[in-house]
Amino acid sequence: MAYIAQTLRREVTERARGRCEYCLTALAVVVEMEIDHVVPEAAGGATNADNLCLTCVGCNGFKLAFQTGIDPETGEHVPLFNPRAERWEDHFGWSEDGTLVLGLTPVGRRSAVGVRYDQARPPMRWPTAAPTNRRAACRYRAPLVARP
Ligand SMILES: [Zn+2]
Repeated sequence: MAYIAQTLRREVTERARGRCEYCLTALAVVVEMEIDHVVPEAAGGATNADNLCLTCVGCNGFKLAFQTGIDPETGEHVPLFNPRAERWEDHFGWSEDGTLVLGLTPVGRRSAVGVRYDQARPPMRWPTAAPTNRRAACRYRAPLVARP
């Protein structure tokens, strides 16, 4: 794992306004945040601001080093959400009660980080787990205070 200088961590955190760039959870309501390589180091991703994002531990644990996943509605391989190249609003939305992140596109459905299509499945299997919930709603309870 690459060393990420404090100045670069601060830059990434400030750019994200202290929120996970995958689920929008605020730093103020989680124990800790991590810095994620959008394109994993193993795939040649650089350790610079253009390839880093702020992520909560939950989202980072689900994403791991994956760049693609299977859209639960179509079964197609799709890229995961790239917060450096795409807008969150283009792929995700909120449930009516404002507690769930919903995937609106194939990328969003696959990337709704924190998605646990089947709570019994261990998180490590998330990126390739067969979908059991076609609604593709993120079961992560996004805190209301983190909504934009
Ligand atoms: Zn998150």
